[in-house]
Order: sequence, then structure tokens, then C-alpha cells
Amino acid sequence: MSDNTQYKDALIDFHKERLLSLSNPSLHCEGCKNPRQFISHQDKLIFTCGSQGNGKCGVQYEITIPQYNYVPLEYKRLSQCIRGEGYTDDIDDVSRYGLETTIQTYEFSKHFQDSVKEASEYRKQCESDRTKLVSQYQAHNNGESRIQKIHDVSRIRHTNATKRLKIQKQMKETDDPMQLSQLRKEYVDLFVNEREELFPKIQGLSGDVIDDYVVIKDGSVKRLNTTYTQTTKPKKKRKPRKKKPPATEES
Ligand SMILES: [Zn+2]
Repeated sequence: MSDNTQYKDALIDFHKERLLSLSNPSLHCEGCKNPRQFISHQDKLIFTCGSQGNGKCGVQYEITIPQYNYVPLEYKRLSQCIRGEGYTDDIDDVSRYGLETTIQTYEFSKHFQDSVKEASEYRKQCESDRTKLVSQYQAHNNGESRIQKIHDVSRIRHTNATKRLKIQKQMKETDDPMQLSQLRKEYVDLFVNEREELFPKIQGLSGDVIDDYVVIKDGSVKRLNTTYTQTTKPKKKRKPRKKKPPATEES
């Protein structure tokens, strides 16, 4: 996730103000009679004080939601583009064919040559987009440290399995009770080592939260007014005072 502080602050503020209005529906900005509104569109959140075009009233701010790419799908799309897979009805679309050498060897129309060059550029673009996607994904998910953890687990498992086989073989071959006792101790130590060193690493791996989305466009905020910061509650109409019953006795 990108470090977009302004967007995050505005998002928190939006929900905070929305909750305030939910628990206090009569809340409005100073000088307004209308209730505040919190409008959610698919890509935008709009906070308006409810009135329109009245001086500083109206839309207070607009939050544009970030755009995300779902990595597995995007990776597949780019890979298909690079490998030239898929089908299109467009006869001018030659992006799936590697014809760069062909147009240098034989003569083709200028139009066809241009299409091939364009397609070649497109495939190169897909390649660089895929590299960027992978590095973004790894940076976001601590890819390097996760890969290191997987290597560690695999190394410990392999070493322990080799040692175990070696000890088993030695135990079968020896008749010396002292050596047999020593080998049994080493064998048990291997299990202790797995419990103390290996299992926490495996648990650490399964505890990693993997996020398959990467941001392709950061969220943003457009602030138009700050009228909402001056919020008032409408005054309740006072009930007419009951007349005091005439005092009968002075105290
Ligand atoms: Zn207002």
C-alpha cells in the first residue's frame, strides 16, 4: 500500500464525520439548515454539508478511491500478451505474431510494417509492465523475506532428514551399547531441534498475510470547503415556561 497520508487522513475523517452524523442526524454546518450528506460512488466518496452553492456551503471534500490491480489476473494477461496467446477478430491486429524478422526479409506494405512495429512495441511494454508488477507485489508482500523463510525451512528439513537417515543406518550397524545409546540421544535431539527451530518458522510462514492487490493509481483528496468544521446542533424549541403558581407564603 502506498504511503498516501492525505488520502488516508481524509478517509478516516470521512468515516468519523459520518458516524457523528449517524448518531446525531440533526447536525449541520454553521449557517445551514440541511443535514450533512455522505455520498458513496464506486470510485468516489463525497462529503457535502447538504446545501448547494451558498457561499462556503456545499461539497466539503471529494475523496477519489485508489485503483488496484488483481495481481494473478493482471500477470496472466501480460504473460499472454508476451507469449502471443489469445484470439482477436481484428485482422489488422498482429500483436500475437512475432513478425519482426519477416518484415526485414520480405517486402510488405508500409501499413503492414507499421502494424508489426506497433505490435512489437506493445509486447515490449507488456514485458516491462510485468516486471514492474512483480517487483511491486514483492515489495508489498515482503517477497524477499518470505522467500528467505521458505529457503530456511527447506534447508533445515533437508539437513535433518539426511542426519536422521545417517543415524538410523549407524544404529543398524553397531553392536556397541555405548554408541547405540549416544546415537539414540542424537536421534531424539533432531526432533527437539525440529520443534524449537523448524516449527516456529513454518508457523511464521502460514501467519504471513498475502495481499494479491497492488495500487496502480493512488487515492487523492480534493478539498473545496472547510465549513463543516464549524458544526452546530439546531437549538431545541424551548417549551413555554409554566407559570409559577402564585406564592402563598413568603419565606
Ligand atoms: Zn453548509
